[in-house]
Amino acid sequence: MALETARAAQLEVTVATVARERDLADTLRVAMNEVGGKLDPDVVLETLTAAAQRLVGASRAWLVPPDESVGADVSGGGVTASADDQWTAAFIDADVPLASWLCMPLSVRAEPVSFLVLASDQTDAFGPAQVEILAAVIAQSMVAYENARLFSQVSQLATIDGLTQVANRRHFMEIAGHELAEARGGRQPLAVIMADIDHFKRINDTWGHQAGDDVIRTVAARLRDGIRDGDVVCRYGGEEFAVVLPDAGDAAPIVAERLRAAIAETPVDTVAGPLPVTISVGVAYLAATDSDVGTLLGRADECLYRAKHAGRNRVAIYPDDIPGVTVGVDSAA
Ligand code: GH3
Ligand code: MG
Ligand code: MG
Repeated sequence: MALETARAAQLEVTVATVARERDLADTLRVAMNEVGGKLDPDVVLETLTAAAQRLVGASRAWLVPPDESVGADVSGGGVTASADDQWTAAFIDADVPLASWLCMPLSVRAEPVSFLVLASDQTDAFGPAQVEILAAVIAQSMVAYENARLFSQVSQLATIDGLTQVANRRHFMEIAGHELAEARGGRQPLAVIMADIDHFKRINDTWGHQAGDDVIRTVAARLRDGIRDGDVVCRYGGEEFAVVLPDAGDAAPIVAERLRAAIAETPVDTVAGPLPVTISVGVAYLAATDSDVGTLLGRADECLYRAKHAGRNRVAIYPDDIPGVTVGVDSAA
């Protein structure tokens, strides 16, 4: 009898253990699915934090970024994560009395990423089993984190022009499309500027393509430095640039003239020595008849060619008669 009772008890324990392990496996699988599907590295970490809290039944969970000043170091195996005032306050202000603490370092190839800090209102809440579970989830999550980080880097590369480091055309069209929708929603007038380097073929032909590339790079940098935050410049084509100016007010012709002067006034340093460079510029404001960014840019492009035909190194504006704006910023060299 005693033997049978013991066997039954043992069986119950085994069943319970198997059930618990299956639940755990399910929970782990769900957590990994959540984390694995994320493309933003920060979202991976947030998802990991929530999943970790759930997995070990912690009352609270925090992500504490590694910070030189607080002595966080996960590189050498030994971990020291002393919290600064902000984090100390967060821990102390927890609305439940916390009896157990667990800190797990998050790193990618020995490079510290963050610390996962878990706390429980139960005493002895975290033992080797919890650490093992978390270590498994963290290891998997850091693979997802690294993938998401690489994805972000590739996305970034896909938006930036390699020669000039300004936005590429595709990215610009996305931004401009968004700004156009915003402008339609009743904001300040939206303007675009198109600029093209004058007689650029001559620069290439006379001084070589490397000097030509130097010119393109410097023109892009001066355009970028000549606009304000919120304006976006892109390399629209070979030696052609476009700028979108949200909330432009009536300043777009003034900005265009400033950009023209920024190029014309200082020769560009190249491998072939300093070269005089000028640009022609077209400006257009969003009109009710513009159905999309393409039509708006098309009108700026018409102005650009007017500026070219009028002798280059000048600004042409569309429409010609903007109230309150001095037209004919046209400034012959
Ligand atoms: P215009 O004043 O009428 O604009 O004359 P232009 O000579 O500048 O004429 P256009 O704008 O048509 O010239 C474009 C030239 O730019 C043609 C092409 O060989 C050159 N180009 C395009 N992309 C690059 C580049 O990345 N590097 C270099 N070095 N040259 C480029
Ligand atoms: Mg040109
Ligand atoms: Mg051109």
